Amino acid sequence: MSATAASVTRHDWSLAEVKALFEQPFNDLLFQAQAVHRQHFDANRVQVSTLLSIKTGACPEDCKYCPQSGHYNTGLDKEKLMEVQKVLEAAAEAKAIGSTRFCMGAAWKHPSAKDMPYVLKMVEGVKALGLETCMTLGKLDQEQTKALAEAGLDYYNHNLDTSPEFYGNIITTRTYADRLETLSYVRESGMKICSGGILGMGESLNDRAGLLIQLANLPEHPESVPINMLVKVKGTPLAEEQDVDPFDFIRMLAVARIMMPKSHVRLSAGREQMNEQMQALAFLAGANSIFYGEKLLTTGNPQADKDMLLFKRLGIQPEAREEHDDEVHQAAIEQALVEQRDSKLFYDATA
Ligand code: SF4
Repeated sequence: MSATAASVTRHDWSLAEVKALFEQPFNDLLFQAQAVHRQHFDANRVQVSTLLSIKTGACPEDCKYCPQSGHYNTGLDKEKLMEVQKVLEAAAEAKAIGSTRFCMGAAWKHPSAKDMPYVLKMVEGVKALGLETCMTLGKLDQEQTKALAEAGLDYYNHNLDTSPEFYGNIITTRTYADRLETLSYVRESGMKICSGGILGMGESLNDRAGLLIQLANLPEHPESVPINMLVKVKGTPLAEEQDVDPFDFIRMLAVARIMMPKSHVRLSAGREQMNEQMQALAFLAGANSIFYGEKLLTTGNPQADKDMLLFKRLGIQPEAREEHDDEVHQAAIEQALVEQRDSKLFYDATA
């Protein structure tokens, strides 16, 4: 495929084709990914989400990369489900600094009947603030999925993590089929899907390609595809894994962009370990969504300042919320960013 050929949304990718994409010379791959990106998106807009952990640690699952798993001793402070009011305060803060989507994550195998009413209240409250809502709560049954959709949940995050072949090396407490089942319930309910994976867990190129094939060959592509770089946490079984070659990580973003041309490809966990040059390359490869992360919600907020400065240096604007009065919301975001920039906390190295 030439860089200028119109990109087609496909659901029949083969391993050989995907490997051929990965194995192209780096510049050819990036050129192709950027060309595809420009057919579907404004290349200078990046969607910004904020992530809040609403229930932390003591998770019964054994995901080998995760400090929140109750199977490993990582010294993490465990926290019960947050109060609804506290979640709404955090969401209001996120909105004030320009986030358009508020993602709430709970370290559960699945939500319990006891917790569901609180979770639904959170969705309704965050939605009422004018933010897009996203949750990640583990496995869902059909009834729970329906209830979340009715409460106004826009996105459900449920990552496939890696290829079906490699999955058992990373998680033994649930199956790939369980994951696909929850994704199918989410799709049936009309919610949007956020699903991606992690690089740096010891997987092969076939596994990276295999993950993207699973995502792209779903009946509909996930609207959001987070690509994470393993954050090696002491106490987890993957703490000593080898670093991913940064160029291989960029290749993964580029191949995801080509295979799922209309999806938001999210530069996710591990971004704090990437320098600005690598993040700029990620945007060039077609990544167009980031998490500000939880640190944003604490005073000082240096990470958000750094992100906004990088956006400014690259001429990138935060993307407005979907299904909203674009101009009004964009103006509100820009105003919030100006206030942020004018605050004492913002050090503008380009001024
Ligand atoms: S299910 Fe989520 S919170 Fe629980 S161990 Fe796995 S990644 Fe961590």
